[in-house]
Amino acid sequence: MAALNACYPSSARISSVSLKSKVLQTPCFIFPTSKGTIPHLTPDNINDNEVPIVYFGLEDSLDLLEKSPIFTVDGEIDKWVAGTPSQSILIAPRRSIPLPSVSAGPQNIEILTSSGLRKLTNEVYVKAITKLRPEIAIALNDNPSNVPGVKRKPKMTERSITWTNELLSSLQNNELTEKVKVFFPVPNVETSYLTPLIERFRESDYKQHITGLACYGDLQSIPSDLSIYPKLFLRPLLTPLAILQSIHQGADIIMADLVNQASDSGIAFTFTFPAPVENLLNRKLELAWDMWNNRFATDLSPLQPGCSCNTCQSYSRAYVHHLLQARELVGWIMVQQHNIHVFHNFFAGIRDSIKAGNFLRDTEIFEKIYSPNFPRTTGLGPRKRGYQMDLTDVQPKENKPSWVQLKSETNDAETSHTTKKKESIQGFQESELPEMDTTVSNFADNYAALSDNQSVSELEEDLFAELDDIDDTAYRESRLQSLKEEFERVSIAKEKGHMQYLTVESEREVMDITTTSKRVVIHFFHPDFRRCKIMDSHLEKISKNHWETKFIRIEAANAPFLALKLGLKVLPVILCYVDAKLVSKLIGFTDLGNNDDFDTPVLEFWLLKWAAIEKLKENNSSGKKSIMGFKDTKNESEDSDFE
Ligand SMILES: [Zn+2]
Repeated sequence: MAALNACYPSSARISSVSLKSKVLQTPCFIFPTSKGTIPHLTPDNINDNEVPIVYFGLEDSLDLLEKSPIFTVDGEIDKWVAGTPSQSILIAPRRSIPLPSVSAGPQNIEILTSSGLRKLTNEVYVKAITKLRPEIAIALNDNPSNVPGVKRKPKMTERSITWTNELLSSLQNNELTEKVKVFFPVPNVETSYLTPLIERFRESDYKQHITGLACYGDLQSIPSDLSIYPKLFLRPLLTPLAILQSIHQGADIIMADLVNQASDSGIAFTFTFPAPVENLLNRKLELAWDMWNNRFATDLSPLQPGCSCNTCQSYSRAYVHHLLQARELVGWIMVQQHNIHVFHNFFAGIRDSIKAGNFLRDTEIFEKIYSPNFPRTTGLGPRKRGYQMDLTDVQPKENKPSWVQLKSETNDAETSHTTKKKESIQGFQESELPEMDTTVSNFADNYAALSDNQSVSELEEDLFAELDDIDDTAYRESRLQSLKEEFERVSIAKEKGHMQYLTVESEREVMDITTTSKRVVIHFFHPDFRRCKIMDSHLEKISKNHWETKFIRIEAANAPFLALKLGLKVLPVILCYVDAKLVSKLIGFTDLGNNDDFDTPVLEFWLLKWAAIEKLKENNSSGKKSIMGFKDTKNESEDSDFE
């Protein structure tokens, strides 16, 4: 790969990556899949040119590790994914926006499969790549989603090196180096921790066999010696402007998570690159439209005038709006087709702009012309895709048994799981069924919450990572100081009513709390609902461990205004507020495996995902439990950032 053109002072560049079946022109994007499928689309409605390469997180398919079907049945990865025959596939160990991993050791990382945590060793991972033969493989790597402790950072680099070596030698032994290109996983650590890489990349093995870098951290921390390699940037990017900025910082390939998030929310892109200059003097243009909005109910124009996608060629905004309102899945298909088309053109525009030497100027104009964020989403998302966590025997029975013991027949309605929702009590229903996936707030806000979570204060992390490292007096002093500060933070939090699970009586109080505390978790409950009681027991426990968040509960009947405004119909409902913004809503137990017996850490995970808590915590010092509630069997050499 050679940079043909770079515009100063930007590091943006035009280049290409040669794979077995095609040459990728960069900057470009890789499309994330759910279990190997581009959400909403079948191969016949994907345009090959628009999505030449997709991302497959192996974690999604390793419920049984070596016994998983992808290992035990013949066939390479393209037999297992719903892509088009000419689509290239990249395999990485984890999903593109992974849930947190809890620990790693010299031989393995922990992954979160749909049936819980598993230890994935490099031996199994290398075996997977050798058998599945994707066009690109990112080597196994240790990259916790939160900020790692200082002891873990050098190990992260070492592990990337060791595990990549093992992958390279297996590919060489199997004569697969031409077929499978390897991207070296650069961990999310500062440049100083990456110096061992520079040595390693001087060796001919790396020069010959590493095709690119998979960057889990900041692009600026990549040593300049490695700048010749194409960089795949794996951080989620919130907006088109964030994508443009990452390209200026040297990203060659970015993840297109943004597209799925928008399409799921019924948000249709309207941006172009370069932006239409004739608009420079008018008011800012929207980046996208919320197709749920009633203003489109009678609008017969295409989603984006002039767009040549399938949807815009044949259908109107009114029709797409109607399909979403009617919950017809084809509505999401149409939005997804359009968004992919716009995104593809956005990248073609970027490449042309760099070639013409206008990229900096075009980026500035883009920033001036468009709103910085996507519109707030108002509608429902599609149904949950893929396997959900904890599938064992949790689905309620579809139909009532046709026979019951006579004695039990009378109270059958009380005891058996049926798909019918319980009788409405005071207008609310108890959650029993998987609900629609509700995406309530601005999805860009949600994304922001996600990345905030990845940059939580390093102070505490380091403190815990180094607990056993106290020979050095100066160090011990500073650690004591940190502990003191921590103690003060906790005291202040306690004064503000944190670390307890409070019942509030009025909506006024709820509103006051959401505006005065940084993180607030609110449970809307009904005193007679069983699932509300289960939720209470978990939140009670979690509130004790998280001084950074305020946990409250309010009887839904005491919050009629909020219930109406937020469309609360089924209880329990959990709302998470961060910086006075609603970042997420959980209805019933849908995101918790829809299982009454879920473990507290599953809920904790969910809260962490939306940054409603800073990180996972374990209170149990003797007989440590793993994050999923199982006894922890890990040995001394493992690193956990949740101790
Ligand atoms: Zn279109």
